[in-house]
Amino acid sequence: MTKVKAEYIWLDGQKPTAQLRSKTKILDKEVWSLSDIPDWGFDGSSTMQAEGSFSDCQLKPVFFVPDPIRGNPHILVMCEVYNSDGTAHASNTRARLREVSEKYKDEQAWFGIEQEYTLFKANGKPLGFPESGFPGPQGPYYCGVGADNIFGRALVEAHLEASIKAGLLISGINAEVMPGQWEFQVGPLEGLAVADQLWVGRWLLHRLAEDYGISVSIYPKPVLGDWNGAGAHVNFSTRSMRADGGLMAIEAACARFSQNHAEHIAVYGADNDKRLTGKHETAHISQFRFGISDRGASIRIPMATAHKKSGYLEDRRPAANMDPYQVCARLIETIAVAN
Ligand code: ADP
Ligand code: MN
Ligand code: MN
Ligand code: MN
Repeated sequence: MTKVKAEYIWLDGQKPTAQLRSKTKILDKEVWSLSDIPDWGFDGSSTMQAEGSFSDCQLKPVFFVPDPIRGNPHILVMCEVYNSDGTAHASNTRARLREVSEKYKDEQAWFGIEQEYTLFKANGKPLGFPESGFPGPQGPYYCGVGADNIFGRALVEAHLEASIKAGLLISGINAEVMPGQWEFQVGPLEGLAVADQLWVGRWLLHRLAEDYGISVSIYPKPVLGDWNGAGAHVNFSTRSMRADGGLMAIEAACARFSQNHAEHIAVYGADNDKRLTGKHETAHISQFRFGISDRGASIRIPMATAHKKSGYLEDRRPAANMDPYQVCARLIETIAVAN
C-alpha cells in the first residue's frame, strides 16, 4: 500500500518572532489536491499557542509541494493554525493576508522577496569567521568565488536544487556582503503564494542545514559592528505600477508609505533597529526616504523601472526575520487605501 509521508509545517506562537514547527503524518493514498490532505492537530501548550489545560490546536492544510528530500510521493504541507472552536488562532497571520488579498484583489499585487540569511557553525560563529578574532573586512565576499571568499556553498546549492524540485518559484541566489551570509529570492508572485513559498523555502533551508551541521539564522544583525545585517527586501508592484506610465502610481505609493512608516516598521521584524542604522546600505529606521537606484533609501525605485516609467519598487526596510504574511498584508493595505 502507498504510504505518503506528509510533513505538516506551521508557525508557532513565539514572540516577537514566530518559529517554524513541523511533524509527519502518514497518509495511505497519494495526494493529488489539497482536499486529499486531512486536517490535523497538535499540542499548542508546547508551541506557545495554548494553555496546558485546553491545549488542542488544529492544523488546516493550505498549500502543498512535493517533498524534495524524501522524494516521491512524499509532500510538504503548509498549514494555518485554528482554535478548537474553528476560529483562526491569534498567531495565524495568514488568515489576515487571505482577507486583505481578497478584498483588494483588483490591485493584482505582486511580490518578489529577497531572503538573506547567515550560516553558523556549532561554535556559534558564522561560517568564514576564524576561531578567534574576525575575518578580513567586507569587500571580496559579495558574489565571490573561491575558498577564501565563499563559505557554505554546498548547502546553498542543495537548498536551491531542493527548492526547484519542490516547485518553488526561486528566481536566484547570491553570496552576500558578510562571510557566511547568503540570499535566495522568491517571486514575483501574489501575496499568499509568495509568503507560503518563502516559509517553505525557509523550512527547507533549516532542514537541509541539519545534515551539514550548520544552523541558519535570519536574525537581522547577526554580528554587531562593521558587518552587514540581514534583510528581506520586498519588491512590490500593482497592476497600475506595471502598466504604461506606472511610475506615477509608484511615486503615489511612496508618498503613502512615507505617511505610514511606523505601521510598516511595526511588522518588518524584531530587532530591525539594530540593522537599519543608516549604514551598510540601509536608511535609518527613524527616516523614510525613497530614491531612484538608491540603496541607502527606505524604498529604491530600480533604474530599469525609472527608465521604462513602469515596473516595481523595492522596499528595503523589512528584516530577514519578518513574517511575509504580515508584510504583504501591510503593503497591500497601505497602497490600496490610496487609490
Ligand atoms: P537586488 O538588485 O535588489 O539584489 P534581486 O535580483 O535580488 O534584486 O531581486 C529582485 C526581485 O524582484 C526578484 O525576486 C524578482 O522576482 C522581483 N521582481 C521582478 N519584477 C517584479 C515585479 N514587477 N513586481 C514585484 N517583484 C518583482
Ligand atoms: Mn538581491
Ligand atoms: Mn541582498
Ligand atoms: Mn535588494
